[in-house]
Amino acid sequence: VGRHPTPQAGPAPVAGVDRILAVGSGKGGVGKSTVASNLAVALARKGRRVGLLDADIYGPSQPRMMGVSGRPASPDGQTIMPLHAHGVTIMSIGLMVDADKAVVWRGPMLMGALQQMLNQVAWGQLDVLIIDLPPGTGDVQLTLCQRTNVTGAVIVSTPQDVALLDARKAIDMFRTLKTPILGLIENMSTFHCPHCGEETQIFGHGGVAAEAARLELPLLGALPIDIDTRLAGDAGTPVALTDGPVGLAYAALAQRFID
Ligand code: ADP
Repeated sequence: VGRHPTPQAGPAPVAGVDRILAVGSGKGGVGKSTVASNLAVALARKGRRVGLLDADIYGPSQPRMMGVSGRPASPDGQTIMPLHAHGVTIMSIGLMVDADKAVVWRGPMLMGALQQMLNQVAWGQLDVLIIDLPPGTGDVQLTLCQRTNVTGAVIVSTPQDVALLDARKAIDMFRTLKTPILGLIENMSTFHCPHCGEETQIFGHGGVAAEAARLELPLLGALPIDIDTRLAGDAGTPVALTDGPVGLAYAALAQRFID
């Protein structure tokens, strides 16, 4: 038997896409998708060409958060046409499967779907493609980082210990995969009571900043627990479309990704 060198399938770029930004978290429910959609909108408002790929197979929430629906068209049976909202080009695993059905896929099917969303979607020319990852450290993260040229990952966490514990694992995974980690984002960091004006640290205070310092990573931004954020997300019109305090916080966060 001859010795054939097996070509190593190294990380490949996505055609037309300048930078790929992966948004991850250790735990679910910390606001990873909320941050991903608002960051996408905030970057688009700054004139960047932005794509948003929702790869959260366990709970694809971008169709709802960005206010898009309907199965994406495929005129030639190959190319998949993305959807558009708020200046962002969007594709979600949730648009490819029945909304009410659980995704129970084996690894290879999952990988196929991920590759399709990366390479068969007509993303066009993008300055940045934001990928909303599933929480944790599973197959999707692994395949994405091994096969695709991810420019960097950001980790969203609340200041709570249990969230930080899992965030640490996600960071460790990206480090093992040699994906650059751009920094941490603290979500639900404080609650400003609209009635009495008092600040309450519902999930604690300073946890993400301390963790970022410990890991020698930048804290890229801190977003409060905020009723408008939740309402806007549910309505499909992300709060980053507004110029209120949280909208401005997202504008500042977006600026961190612009050189
Ligand atoms: P994940 O993607 O981490 O699972 P989501 O972005 O889906 O988390 O957020 C979980 C829930 O919390 C959603 O209902 C969302 O609207 C809400 N949420 C997220 N961030 C905030 C925030 N800063 N203030 C208020 N509600 C938030």
